[in-house]
Amino acid sequence: MLIDTHCHLDASEFDADRDQVWREAQAQGVRALVIPAVMQSTFQPVMDWCAQHPHTGFALGWHPLFVDQAADDALQQMQDTVAAVLAGPQAGQLLAIGEIGLDFYVTRDNEVKQVALFEGQLQIAKQFGLPVILHVRAAVDSVLKYLRKHRLDSGIAHAFNGSLQQATIFTELGFKLGFGGAMTWPRALKIRKLAAELPVEALVLETDAPDIPPVWVGHHGRNTPGQLKRIAEEMALIRGLEISQLIEITGKNSMQVLPKLAYLCT
Ligand SMILES: [Zn+2]
Repeated sequence: MLIDTHCHLDASEFDADRDQVWREAQAQGVRALVIPAVMQSTFQPVMDWCAQHPHTGFALGWHPLFVDQAADDALQQMQDTVAAVLAGPQAGQLLAIGEIGLDFYVTRDNEVKQVALFEGQLQIAKQFGLPVILHVRAAVDSVLKYLRKHRLDSGIAHAFNGSLQQATIFTELGFKLGFGGAMTWPRALKIRKLAAELPVEALVLETDAPDIPPVWVGHHGRNTPGQLKRIAEEMALIRGLEISQLIEITGKNSMQVLPKLAYLCT
């Protein structure tokens, strides 16, 4: 099952042709797609679009790069929203809490606020029994520390770019690692090595569209979920697997950490 576990289809880059982009992805064999929201103001538009489109699901969360826009009661608002969604008709489409995490690459000046929102959201995930979709940049060890502290045991570390040792700790905690366009660039040796050497049970596929375009789209091109098939082919090549095997295994892996995907795929 070809599943895009991380796609920002709600981004303004898709305002002109969002439905068309999704139709094209489905025509390329993408069976299900996960949209991780990045802040409270995007929750409703994301949910509204998913309500109209079978085989799509969403995650709700505050992305670490947007925490400066979070109001003092952001966690309370989020908790109320999650509770309401889980009690409503879209409960089956709320797959995870995300995109949450820590990003010390862009800035560490707001570390206290990043950590407070991250920990609060981990607690919300724990409270509602939801997995998490993680953004981790220049902060792998810190993220691991808080996952352990709050005993989170299921989710995806998206666009993973840490060491093999750190990747192993994530998998031992019950997490999968997301690979996408970055892996297709010949000079991305570290990511390609990870994609080759990690146990295949650890891998899930993603595009992160419109960001992280694959090499054939180019640095300034718009990435789309329709690129997932070629990304899967690239990973199959790196792993020495048949493409059908790779798609089956990564699909299973995705459903293992985001269990509601099983319903979206039928
Ligand atoms: Zn993302």
